[in-house]
Amino acid sequence: MVNTNFTKITEGIEVRESWPGGPLREFAKIRPHGSWGLPFDDAEWPWAAAYVCGRCKKTAEGVYSVTAAANTKPRTPGIGWLCPACKEMATGSAA
Ligand SMILES: [Zn+2]
Repeated sequence: MVNTNFTKITEGIEVRESWPGGPLREFAKIRPHGSWGLPFDDAEWPWAAAYVCGRCKKTAEGVYSVTAAANTKPRTPGIGWLCPACKEMATGSAA
């Protein structure tokens, strides 16, 4: 499954929580790619780009809220929001 609008950028980005307790996401100073990237209300990082998995720290086209992972201690930013592969691991191992 290839999404041509999804392109990894490696420079001029910052990864942080979209909101406190929210999913990790890449934020860019410059619009990442043509029409790709969402305008974000932030003067310094005005473009929201790819989501980042809270566990494997890889960019993902989408991340899911995973309650079992959110309760992980110690809590790390974005841990409650996982890519499909990590979500499967988290929910599969949660008894
Ligand atoms: Zn992951």
